[in-house]
Amino acid sequence: MYETVMNQFNNTADMIDLNPNIRKILGITNNEIIVHFPVKMDNGKVEVFTGYRVQHNNALGPYKGGLRYHDTVDIDAAKALAMWMTWKTSLAGLPFGGAKGGIQIDPRNYSDSELERITRRFTYALGENIGPEHDIPAPDVNTNPQTMAWIVDTYMSTISSSERSHNQHVVTGKPVGAGGLEGRDRATGFGVYLSIKLLLETEQQDLKDKRFIVQGFGNVGYWASHFLSQDGAKLIAVQDAHATVYNEDGIDTEALAQHCEPRKGSIKGFDGATEIDADEFFGLDCDIVIPAALGNQITAENAFKIKASIVAEGANGPTDKEGEKILLQNGVKIIPDIFCNSGGVIGSYFEWLQNRNGELWQLDEVMAKIQKKLTENFHKIHNEVNKREVDWRTAAFILAISRVETAYKQRGIFP
Ligand code: NAD
Repeated sequence: MYETVMNQFNNTADMIDLNPNIRKILGITNNEIIVHFPVKMDNGKVEVFTGYRVQHNNALGPYKGGLRYHDTVDIDAAKALAMWMTWKTSLAGLPFGGAKGGIQIDPRNYSDSELERITRRFTYALGENIGPEHDIPAPDVNTNPQTMAWIVDTYMSTISSSERSHNQHVVTGKPVGAGGLEGRDRATGFGVYLSIKLLLETEQQDLKDKRFIVQGFGNVGYWASHFLSQDGAKLIAVQDAHATVYNEDGIDTEALAQHCEPRKGSIKGFDGATEIDADEFFGLDCDIVIPAALGNQITAENAFKIKASIVAEGANGPTDKEGEKILLQNGVKIIPDIFCNSGGVIGSYFEWLQNRNGELWQLDEVMAKIQKKLTENFHKIHNEVNKREVDWRTAAFILAISRVETAYKQRGIFP
């Protein structure tokens, strides 16, 4: 993924003739934090874990980005994902920079109480490297509102008592009862849905009867499917880490969601579809492909099989360089991750603002705000696509990098 994001950055930097000094700054990550910390397991033994937090850039505001619990988490993955966050927050027009982190674990191997202790010790080990005006984590793969609630509680319990009352915005994506935002749960999937709908509208089409397939049926995959199905599109296949299921007559999104119990759930064994071979997934006959799981899923190995005309990147970095080349040659429109899944960080920004200002917003207000911001951003990218005659990712990167460049040009470099 690091190779992919650096390639995207360098191509854009060449294209916009990025100031060479600023190019040097943006081509590296500001801080790379690695912590090792001990945790007592349920059986009384101690295990030592390694956690990462990479802070790529904060020219536009505090570092912002998710925490992932997965066995693919390492320093390079965190660096790549942190850089994408800088471009995503910049493109979205938010006052944030970019960061990412996590722990290299498979959470299914741990009990809930072990995961709570792992999360709390990780938060403690990160110490002042995170903070509501410095670096604000959020959920990502295998982390959720509960994880964020443990982080906020640990953070508040370990800072001075005078600061405790006004630091809830140290993380976003919290449960609503613990300072979270109504609608943050669905914000990313809503953005994926809206970006597809807006793209179709540019071609005088709508979602009715469009057939879509989704890789990953977690937070992003489920909510994107929910909104697309509500608008008349038909979910025909889903793939997760355990199975691939297919039903050419359409899969009932809500029934599938009910089948997956939270956290440890899987689509495997769902009786409303047939299980098929994982290799068949990307070649299925459909209009829209939504990768909403991990990075590097669409590659030279499978991109040529894709029959859809739209790939909407719910996941971060799901398409590698070779995969992208093939898709573009075949006329597939790629809605790039830094826009397609930006509903999540936009929702996080509203949660941060809500906590910071001591306000409480209703679901309909939040969704209207997210929709407005995403729609404005979509039209900015669309204009750039038309003006420069480039693909959607290139247009999005040009806008994102140019905004950070302007901030550096105006502020100069200390001292
Ligand atoms: P999640 O943990 O809720 O769900 C992940 C899903 O991916 C699960 O269904 C899992 O089974 C599946 N998966 C894992 N490995 C897989 C594999 N090898 N093949 C197929 N499926 C696999 O995670 P999420 O929050 O939905 O995040 C999904 C993606 O969206 C990630 O790339 C994440 O960075 C990105 N994203 C998430 C948010 C957010 O708000 N949660 C925001 C922006 C981007």
